[in-house]
Parts: sequence; C-alpha cells; structure tokens
Amino acid sequence: KSSEGQKMLEFRRSLPAYKEKDAILNSISKNQVVIISGETGCGKTTQVPQFILESEINSMRGATCSIICTQPRRISAMSVSERIAIERGEKLGENVGYKVRLEGMKGKNTRLLFCTSGVLLRRLLVDRDLKGVTHVIMDEVHERGIDEDFLLTVMKELLPCRPELRLVLMSATINAEIFSSYFNGAPVIQIPGITHPVRTYFLENILESTGYRLTADNQIDDYGQVWKLNKQTSNKRKSHIASSVEEALGSADYSEYSQQTQDSLLCWNPNCINFNLIEYLLCNICENGKPGGILVFMTGWDDIISLKEKLQAHSVLGDPNRVLLLTCHGSMSSSEQRLIFEKVDDGVRKIVLATNIAETSITIDDLVFVIDCGKAKEASYDALNNTPCLLPSWISKVSAKQRRGRSGRVQPGECYHLYPQCVYDSFADFQLPKILRTPLQSLCLQIKSLNLGSISGFLSRALQSPDSLAVQNAVEYLKLIGALDEKENLTILGGYLAMLPMEPKHGKMLVMGAFLNCLDPILTIVAGLTVRDPFLAPLEIKELAQAAKAQFSHGFSDHLALVRAYNGWKVAERKRIGHKYCWKNFLSPQSMKAIDSLRREFQSVLKSIRLIDNKASSYNTYSYDENLVRAVICSGLYPGVCSVVHKDNSLSLKTMEDGQVSLHSKSVNARDFKIPYPWLVFNKKVKVNSVYLQDSTAVSDSTLLLFGGSISIGDVEGHMKMLGGYFEFFM
Ligand code: ADP
Ligand code: MG
Repeated sequence: KSSEGQKMLEFRRSLPAYKEKDAILNSISKNQVVIISGETGCGKTTQVPQFILESEINSMRGATCSIICTQPRRISAMSVSERIAIERGEKLGENVGYKVRLEGMKGKNTRLLFCTSGVLLRRLLVDRDLKGVTHVIMDEVHERGIDEDFLLTVMKELLPCRPELRLVLMSATINAEIFSSYFNGAPVIQIPGITHPVRTYFLENILESTGYRLTADNQIDDYGQVWKLNKQTSNKRKSHIASSVEEALGSADYSEYSQQTQDSLLCWNPNCINFNLIEYLLCNICENGKPGGILVFMTGWDDIISLKEKLQAHSVLGDPNRVLLLTCHGSMSSSEQRLIFEKVDDGVRKIVLATNIAETSITIDDLVFVIDCGKAKEASYDALNNTPCLLPSWISKVSAKQRRGRSGRVQPGECYHLYPQCVYDSFADFQLPKILRTPLQSLCLQIKSLNLGSISGFLSRALQSPDSLAVQNAVEYLKLIGALDEKENLTILGGYLAMLPMEPKHGKMLVMGAFLNCLDPILTIVAGLTVRDPFLAPLEIKELAQAAKAQFSHGFSDHLALVRAYNGWKVAERKRIGHKYCWKNFLSPQSMKAIDSLRREFQSVLKSIRLIDNKASSYNTYSYDENLVRAVICSGLYPGVCSVVHKDNSLSLKTMEDGQVSLHSKSVNARDFKIPYPWLVFNKKVKVNSVYLQDSTAVSDSTLLLFGGSISIGDVEGHMKMLGGYFEFFM
C-alpha cells in the first residue's frame, strides 16, 4: 500500500502546479487575495487546496483551519473531492469532503470542503461572516457563471470585515487579469502547462482528407428543414454571430481544395449538428486510428441522447466489446458520472459524448481525440423583449481552444472541428459572462434575501454590471409575481422562492401547490419542465409520436398530459414493464426516471424549508382537482400568457411582447383548432423564424384573474376560503 502512496506522491510531484507550491503558499500568506492561473490539467484543482491544507497541518493549525473550495458544478465538487481523498490515501468524509445540493459527504474533522458556489451562497444566507472559515478557494472563476460572479462581489465586500480570511481564485489562463484588477491588483501566479502537440482539422481539412461528401439531405436541422444555401435564408432573422458566420463563409477562398470539397462546403449547414459526419468520423477513428479515448462535444442533453441512440444502432460503435459509449452532462446522477473516469479494457475504446462541462473542469483520462461541434446550448437573454432563449449558439475562440486542448493531455492528440476555419476566425474571443446574458430574477431574490441593500446598487459593484434594463425587468417581474413588494422588500413568497434552488416561476408552482394541496401533480410538472422533454418526436415517425402523445391529451394542457403519462409510467414501472410502456408511448425512459428522482429531490427541499411537513411522504397520488392544478400552473407561469382567438375556422394566438405566435408541433394544443378557453399559459418559447410556444395549458378568465399575478402568501388561507366557493362556480 505504501508503494501505491509513493507512486501517487511521485505523480503529484510531476504536475506543473507542484513546482509552484512554495510561491503559491508564500503569496497566500502575504496577500488576502491571490489569483492562480494555469492550463487545464496543470494541477490547480487537485493540488492547490491540498497545499493549503498540508501547510496548515504543518503549522499546527490543522485542527482549526477550514478551507472551502467552490466548484461551478455538482459533478466537479464530488469527483474532485473523491480524487483528492484517493491521492491522500484517505476515505472521503475524513479530512476532505463535499457538499452539494441535497447530498454530501463530510465529517466533523473535515477541513477541506468542496461545494458548489450555490451551496456557499446559501450558507452566506445564514452565516454572513463565514465564521470559522479560514480560506475560500473559488475554482474555475473564468467561467463567469452567475453564482460565481455574485459570490465574487459578496466576497469582495466581506474581506475588509474578515482581515484574516484568505481568498484564492483559480482560473484557466484566459482572463485572469480581470480578477486581479477587480481585487485591487491582487497578485497573479501563472502555472506553466504541459501540452502535447495536437493535430487540428477544420471542416475543409476533414472533407479533403476523408473524401466525405456533404449533401443537403444528410444535414437536417432541428426544425426539420432541409438546408439549402440560398439567398432567402439570409433574410431570416439572425443573431449577430450567426450573420458574421455567414459573412465569413461568403468570403472564404477554397480554390486550392478539390471540387468535391468545394461543393460540400457550399452545402454545409451551419444550423445543424451533423450526426452523420460525427458517426463517420467516430467509425473512422475506431477502425484506423491509434488507441485512445474520444471526446465529442455536443450542445446539450437532447442531442447527446439522440446521438447516443444513433450510435448504439451502429455495427461497430454499438458493439460493447469494442466501444464503451458514455455521456457526460450536468444532469446525470453521480454514479453515472463516475463511469467516465473509469479505465477501459484493452481493445475497447472509450467514447464520451459531453456538453461543455467537459471543457475545463473535468479530466477524462486517456483522451487522444476530440470532435468539436462548435456549439453550446447557451442561455441568452433579450432584455428588450424580456425573453430568455436557450438555443445552441457558436462558442468563443477561447472555448474552441479549450476543447482542442482536451486531446493533447496524455500523448499527441487530434482534434476535429466540424466547421470551417473561417467560421472559427469569426467567433468572439470570449464568451459574454452569464450575468450579462440571463434574466436576473433569481439573482435579485438572493441579493434581497442576503440583505445586501438595493438591487441596482449592489449590481453596480459587480465585476461587470448588467444592463440597467435587464435589472429593471427582473425587479418588475418579481413585483408582478408577488415576490417583492412595492418597496422592493422580499414578501413571504419571495422568501420561499429565494430558498428554492430553481427558477422563481417553478418555485412558485411548488409553493402554491403545497399551499393549495395539490402538490403531487405539480411535483411531476415542475420536474418535467426541468428535464429533457419526455415526449420523444423522432423525425422519421413524427406523426406516430404525436398520435402517441395525443392519447394523454387532457384538458388542453401539455402539463396535464405529462402528469397522465408519468402516472401511467409509474404504474407500469411497478409491474416492471416501465420500459415497454415508454417504448409503446414514445416516452423517454431516462426522462421518466429523471422526473422520478427530481420529484424526490423537490420533496426534500420543500421539507427542509418547512413548506411540507416531515411525515408527508405520499400525497393523494392519482386523484387531484384538475382545475386547481390548472390554477397553480397559471400562478407560476404568469406572465407567460398568450391570448386565444378563433376567427373563421382558424386560431390566432398572440402574446403582448411578440404579437402573433405559433404552437410547437409537439404541443397537444397544436392538434386542436378549437381551444375552449380564452388564454394559454406557457413555460417556454423559442425564437426560430417565428416565436413558438413549446408547451401550454389553457386557462379561463377567472383563473387568470385570480391566479395570474401577485397573490400574497400571507393571506393564502383567507384566499382559499374565499376561493372555496368560487371554484365550482367559475371553473
Ligand atoms: P487543473 O485543475 O489545473 O485543470 P487538475 O488538478 O484537475 O488540473 O488535474 C491535474 C492532473 O491530475 C490531471 O492532469 C490528471 O492527470 C490528474 N487527475 C485529475 N483528476 C483525476 C482523476 N479523477 N483520475 C485520475 N487522474 C486525475
Ligand atoms: Mg481545474
């Protein structure tokens, strides 16, 4: 065992971070804030927290030190703490532990605690000064997540009150200076990296060297349109970056390439992720490439799952004796996540389909190949229309470089970018920080519940201040739904919403569902809105899939349809035929299972904030008042409202911000040309060429009147008494 320990020590000493150990510790002892920057893999995450821990132990402060290291994601908090415990030859939960939402592994002697930024923020709610904490390490600050940016501002204001507290910021090499200037010129320690050369192919090189031919019909985009590069498409509304991509393509010169490559490039569809090409490349590597794992960067859960299904049907890629096919995204369970770190047998190739969470924070060993689709699903936010959008968009140069860098870790690597070099050249240098491109509702609630003073005042002291229109929109929204009062103070509802780790609208549904005693279906609905759409719609058999969903259609509501589908699955699952049920009804078994576990998670959060009592474990499961559920959905989704007008056998739908809108073809309401209600409330709309409502529930005038807007939870009881009589009458 000690030789194992010796080996581990040798490994640790070989990491570039180890050579900077003294410089790092020295700087931390002299400065309250230190920034450490280095290439992925140099040992920041696994070594720096250990340096601090060991130095505290050596200075006889081992029993009193308390080091908190934040990670942007649960998966990294868990996997990093586990890795460090292994490096130290300890069990997790002794010196080193972790705490993420609803899960944790820590003991009373835990000195080094890994947690998500959200967990530290919630701790600050009850412990403003971080009493007893000696060091806060914030990892991956370059990602500029909203929690991380928020935490930076809170920490900056806390530091003068806690002069002995140390703050260490760790960042990839991309933007360390901005942190240094925010913290009054704090020192930056650069750790040099080890990288092997990476042979890089852009789309034109891939086409030229493989002879793969792109045609209009092997590239079909999400909305089922076959791509043709023609003049009309340039009239479509396009985002900034998309149009710069178009421009780049127009002026690129490919005359030195073969005719076939040139023709292919003309057909290239920038709006689709080309599954066929990915499959072809994977197969090519498996058959002809040197040994080593392959990491494929996709945009999100949905295309990862679809690609996985496609590959599983492939004769080589789907053969478990030759390929270990894994996925890596933010919403996987911890046991699933662990699989990606495991070693594979000789002769088996590991293929990991990942979102951008594999870009900077996770080390997957033995990677030699990277395939990069060039996109990430990004929350963006249109402050003018007050519309959040979650659409795949082009990544930044920095991200593309990070992705490429994942391949040259253990030996010389190869990277395939599925877009032409001229498109890469048109990428933005950096991605905008999240705080500048998402709605600020949750953030504003947290500022209020942390008593940080006026919302706009606090945000003006942030690392980068969001647009004042975005701040104003968020405050207006929170007032509208009753989370803030006229003076911007937190209401009782607002207090609950601040404690719930989800969007305020989903939080409000749970709160109202708990108060109005119809939590069971609401748990399913909120969980269903959080996971990938459980109703599958494979392109080739779209009609069949839609017909399958229509069986669950109920009360002109996608949300009620989901409740039916889930309850049916639950019954089938108990008879152990859950899978068959999903298969028959075009439902995703993964989503159903995810809903099941999210429901349990939500229940324990609601218990922890005492919205439901501890004993409540089963609710009156299969019976609920449909109209009450409708009312609760309305209370959460308001002001996402669209008016329904029937005119000469056609249906006209309008929202205040967008004017005319359409229903997504998957919505149960899209099948009905007569919706006997004047309103639809919806959770999500997407902008493509027109605005589509993805899901909707029909509501009556009185439901909208009574439940849209700000019901004060303080008088919910009175409200309920009053409503008691109204229910039957109105709805
Ligand atoms: P950084 O934070 O600078 O990107 P890390 O500290 O995460 O680097 O990783 C340093 C090195 O430790 C990696 O290059 C890898 O070789 C090794 N390593 C990290 N995590 C694991 C793990 N879970 N399993 C095996 N090796 C790991
Ligand atoms: Mg790291």
